[in-house]
Amino acid sequence: MPRCPGCFVMLTMTNYGGVNVKTCNSCFGTWISRVSLMHIVRAVEPPDAGPDTPSLKDLAALVTEGHNKRRFPCPECRQQMTIDRLHPMIPVDMQFCGKCAYVWLDVGKLAMTQRLYHALTNSTDPKIIEIRERYALASLGMEVQKERMPAIGGAAAGALGQAMRYPTPYGVGGGFDLNTLVGMLDF
Ligand SMILES: [Zn+2]
Ligand SMILES: [Zn+2]
Repeated sequence: MPRCPGCFVMLTMTNYGGVNVKTCNSCFGTWISRVSLMHIVRAVEPPDAGPDTPSLKDLAALVTEGHNKRRFPCPECRQQMTIDRLHPMIPVDMQFCGKCAYVWLDVGKLAMTQRLYHALTNSTDPKIIEIRERYALASLGMEVQKERMPAIGGAAAGALGQAMRYPTPYGVGGGFDLNTLVGMLDF
């Protein structure tokens, strides 16, 4: 089992909505394959808002506090990871290892990414709808297909244009800040 890139303790296998993820019991970060991350974000329903579910605002506070600016070496191959975002509309920075196709998410970032994706997809706010169309949130679906069919990469992926690029360059799109977006989503 790989070790946490921040605290160096052994990661443990846990279950997140039916998907196996590796988590650190010290900092509560998550080490997950890109394919599993896409699956959770797109296909796993976020938990119903119950008394134990933190509000998006509280979750944003946790994410902001637990955010690590330092680039970590990959827990598997030791190569320096890249700080990036899953999608320009989701202002959550995560660390990617392109070689292992794995992602490191600091505490709260997996739940935040998943809940923002669902909130942005379902929002009826005209401002959100406009931005959603502009940044083609649906393109995440194509990303999943691309992950499953690496053979279509190269020219075919290039032809599909900007929306298909992965990972999305940091800071592109919306200029969102996490707290501003959470405030807009009215939770
Ligand atoms: Zn840790
Ligand atoms: Zn790696």
